[in-house]
Amino acid sequence: MGRRKKIVQECERLMDEPENIRNIAIAAHVDHGKTTLSDNLLAGAGMISDETAGEQLAMDTEEDEQERGITIDAANVSMTHEYEGTNHLINLIDTPGHVDFGGDVTRAMRAVDGALVVVDAVEGAMPQTETVLRQALREGVKPTLFINKVDRLISELQEGPEEMQERLLSVIRDVNELIRGMTEDMDDVDDWTVSVEDGTVGFGSALYKWGVSMPSMQRTGMDFAEIMELERADKRQELHEKTPLSDVVLDMVCEHFPNPVDAQPRRIPRIWRGDDDTELAEGMRLVDEDGEVVFMVTDISMDPHAGEIASGRVFSGSLEKGQELYVSGTAGKNRIQSVGVFMGGEREEVEEVPAGNIAAVTGLKDAIAGSTVSSVEMTPFESIEHISEPVITKS
Ligand code: GDP
Repeated sequence: MGRRKKIVQECERLMDEPENIRNIAIAAHVDHGKTTLSDNLLAGAGMISDETAGEQLAMDTEEDEQERGITIDAANVSMTHEYEGTNHLINLIDTPGHVDFGGDVTRAMRAVDGALVVVDAVEGAMPQTETVLRQALREGVKPTLFINKVDRLISELQEGPEEMQERLLSVIRDVNELIRGMTEDMDDVDDWTVSVEDGTVGFGSALYKWGVSMPSMQRTGMDFAEIMELERADKRQELHEKTPLSDVVLDMVCEHFPNPVDAQPRRIPRIWRGDDDTELAEGMRLVDEDGEVVFMVTDISMDPHAGEIASGRVFSGSLEKGQELYVSGTAGKNRIQSVGVFMGGEREEVEEVPAGNIAAVTGLKDAIAGSTVSSVEMTPFESIEHISEPVITKS
């Protein structure tokens, strides 16, 4: 059996273990390194080759995006990662980084439970960092922080340890100030500020594929002095091998982001305005794979062979081929032709996709991004409102 086939089988097995699933988004101001980081994670999980990560930009699936050099479509990929002896299924939704696509970012956030916010160490938190954070928090999505392009502080700006530390701390302070301001009035979340000490902050270089966090430094025994020495000496391959970015980030994802079983009871009342007191609501809160099917479509993409593919989050029930489902806002039902997951940007058909997962299905001809697709008629997830860019100025 090929390596890819094995990974697909393992993903299918893990889809039935919601405790070991993490649905995440990577969100960032444009050019802060979201695409490069996503490719690193895919390469680290064995989904694309290590050499092509960073060049291939696997998440940029649309030609248009490659031409314009920005990511506009929200693509999905699934990968596996072993953390503390247990394999995890990580479903990653790519969020559009460009200023004009705020609506899409919100929609992508609805499908995930955790958001890895990427901030360029040189530029610091930018207006769009604030926008993506606000979108994540409004959807009840927990943030962690990755400070990227740290190689530039060391090699280009030639910063010393103190200067660098001060800069990194100021990025963390700025991000926490935003998080604090946005979560003050939220009574369904705990303290969601990030910190180096508790491992919710990572640093590194997506370009050179190395990363560190407090837990990773404790594990590998590497400290900042050694990192600076290797980076300055241009020994980036060694740095990557000693402390690979994908391990650091995926460990952080498994440790600090909630699984669907923990997230959905809290998130459903926040993101769905239907009657809480129904079996349908209970099924969604409990991630019941035997309950009614509720599938929220976050993205429609075109496949040259399969046609339109609707991807999104299964909140309850299990999606299977042949099901006849309601599509919010339209009359009649659509029949599911195939169900699958996105692996490294390619769709793999599977038998079924149970609650708690991200699915990619064909046959939903009436669905658009934002549709609620369900086995019984129901209140759709609220209409998706566009959150405009904040007007903040950087001093
Ligand atoms: P996105 O717009 O957030 O998806 O950003 P990209 O991943 O496309 O990266 C934007 C630019 O920054 C590209 O030229 C990358 O090669 C570069 N870049 C990304 N990560 C790093 C990094 O860690 N260090 C350096 N020096 N450049 C990086």
